[in-house]
Amino acid sequence: MAAPKENPLMEKIVSLCKRRGFIFQSSEIYGGINGFWDYGPLGAELKKNIRDCWWNDMVRRRDDVVGLESSIIMHPKVWEASGHVGGFTDPMVDCKTSKQRFRADQIFFSPVVVDGKTVDYVSVLESERVAEELQEKAETLKRKKAIQGKLEAVQPRDFTEARPEEIPLVPSPATGEPGSLMPPRAFNMMFETYVGALRDESAIAYLRPETAQGMFVDFKAILDTGRVRIPFGIAQIGKSFRNEITPRNFTFRSREFEQMEMEYFISDLDDWEKWHRHWIDWCRDWLVSIGVPASHLSEYNHPREKLAFYSKGTTDIMFRYPFGEQELWGIAARGDYDLSQHAKVSGTPMIYFDEATKRRYVPHVIEPAVGVDRIALAILCSAYNEDQAPDEKGNLETRVVMRFHPRIAPVKVAVFPLLKNKPDLVQKAKEVRDLLRLHMTTFYDEAGAIGRRYRRQDEAGTPFGVTIDFDTLGEKPELKDTVTLRDRDTMKQDRVMISDLLPLLLERIR
Ligand code: ATP
Repeated sequence: MAAPKENPLMEKIVSLCKRRGFIFQSSEIYGGINGFWDYGPLGAELKKNIRDCWWNDMVRRRDDVVGLESSIIMHPKVWEASGHVGGFTDPMVDCKTSKQRFRADQIFFSPVVVDGKTVDYVSVLESERVAEELQEKAETLKRKKAIQGKLEAVQPRDFTEARPEEIPLVPSPATGEPGSLMPPRAFNMMFETYVGALRDESAIAYLRPETAQGMFVDFKAILDTGRVRIPFGIAQIGKSFRNEITPRNFTFRSREFEQMEMEYFISDLDDWEKWHRHWIDWCRDWLVSIGVPASHLSEYNHPREKLAFYSKGTTDIMFRYPFGEQELWGIAARGDYDLSQHAKVSGTPMIYFDEATKRRYVPHVIEPAVGVDRIALAILCSAYNEDQAPDEKGNLETRVVMRFHPRIAPVKVAVFPLLKNKPDLVQKAKEVRDLLRLHMTTFYDEAGAIGRRYRRQDEAGTPFGVTIDFDTLGEKPELKDTVTLRDRDTMKQDRVMISDLLPLLLERIR
């Protein structure tokens, strides 16, 4: 289904996610449903850690941001005012022959030009290597058709830029043959449903395609609670739904996903560029603080001519996924568009009164919007690592290790009795587990050889392993009440007093 093809690293990550219970396809026993995913025990913990870190850093530890949880289904007029009913569309292309659908901006094509004359067209789907792939296809085509002359370099364009006379000449990515692609048409990505017992036009409502409108619609209610002064933000975490034409790249583009968005309201006279920069830097630093490598991050500024008319500027923080550099976090300066639209359509003024200057105005907004699933995927991709480690007999073998930052690791510490058939070891190990699990996610494992248990935790990305052995019980009196503490990354083991264990681990997972 949506698993990426021909990407060995991605295949390994997808397979590990399934094998270890990070991510499963939704409804798999019924053949799955495209664009929907379930997070298993480890994945659920990983996502919760991402959400908790963001909420703590974005809301609880700041004076200027408050939280919100608005409903997923809102009044349908919300989506008329926001522009989603009229304009939340992607350009869709039907292939008549295969009945497949594509996003027009994900089909790339080029004329094949030999000695200055267009002899045919080639096409490929979006990838890291669009130009190279088109060039290879053009060369193959020239060779197969035995066309003589000099082949010119391809000039990739996406299918939204195809001229009407070119449309029938571009091969369909599904069949490889021209003539079956239809002209692109706008496809609205909002999921529709009905509210109440009647199933007519008047009962139509939408699953929200973003959480942001909740913050705009509740702006006045939050202002009226009296706690906030400009500049301030409203933050929300929640599910969003988009009927994506081509869900793909594992969880990267899903139809149900989770967003963490914050609307930061500033004065209409404020320097919006300063605030925009402030939030881009904040987002980047935050990603690094949870273990996303800075080396995989870059910034993309949307060109002026492609921005919506009200937008002042949008910068995306891009992440280098194994399938290419893609948007992770969008930081948009949206002016006063959203509040003004809701004021106009609802008739409720969205005015802020500045006590100091006695001035009334509609605030402007900076919006950092990110998908939890895209962060989780970025973390899974950058944590995946293979190295060499000795097996039970001391021979080197390949070890798969998820190098999660301890702050974000699904399980912080695993506790092992050296042997499971020694009641004293088991009892002591369970005591240590009980001591730790009040404070952090802890996993107790007594099954199998200790080396194999370490490997299982390496794959789960557990940063610390605690082993209770005979010395813990006092076989060597000077080591009584000590345990070995194993570090996932260095595989080094230190002897630590049980009484020191909790403060030491709390310090390291902070
Ligand atoms: P894209 O161009 O990739 O479709 P977008 O620009 O439409 O994304 P926004 O509307 O700005 O995305 O949404 C904010 C954030 O929500 C994105 O940066 C991304 O992290 C996340 N997001 C958007 N669409 C999806 C999706 N289909 N699946 C998973 N996450 C998504």
